[in-house]
Amino acid sequence: MNRVLQFIRSLFLIEFIKAFGLGLRYFFKAKATLNYPFEKGPLSPRFRGEHALRRYPNGEERCIACKLCEAVCPAQAITIEAEPRDDGSRRTTRYDIDMTKCIFCGLCEEACPVDAIVEGPNFEYATETREELFYDKQKLLDNGDRWEREIAKNLELDAPYR
Ligand code: SF4
Ligand code: SF4
Repeated sequence: MNRVLQFIRSLFLIEFIKAFGLGLRYFFKAKATLNYPFEKGPLSPRFRGEHALRRYPNGEERCIACKLCEAVCPAQAITIEAEPRDDGSRRTTRYDIDMTKCIFCGLCEEACPVDAIVEGPNFEYATETREELFYDKQKLLDNGDRWEREIAKNLELDAPYR
């Protein structure tokens, strides 16, 4: 009986030493986890995050209300209304995206001839209510103003592959 107990004890000891060795090995390796939200992983320039409407450097809206994005959207998440301005240019009077419908396919961005509608790098836009996910033109323009630097850089990096 004593010999059986001794055998079991030595088995436990071997397993303990193996586990301890494994722990020590990983203790000195680079951590595989991130301390989110204080640390964030790298994002591809093609990352399809929250939508934004961009402006030109002079503040003018890029969107020319061609409605290609609305036509191509497979989820019918985009609603646009437009009318000509006094100077003859055509601009949207309404540009809504229902983010609860959007499937983040990126087709709106691909269809846009003037890089107005884009999916930016922001992925932290969770909301508490459904209504907050009905984006209007002002919200989208604000997103564009907020993220323009990152969006422009990502478009530049991705340009050789488009
Ligand atoms: S990403 Fe796709 S689904 Fe979402 S608004 Fe653009 S075209 Fe529609
Ligand atoms: S965002 Fe682009 S594709 Fe959509 S209506 Fe404006 S110019 Fe056309």
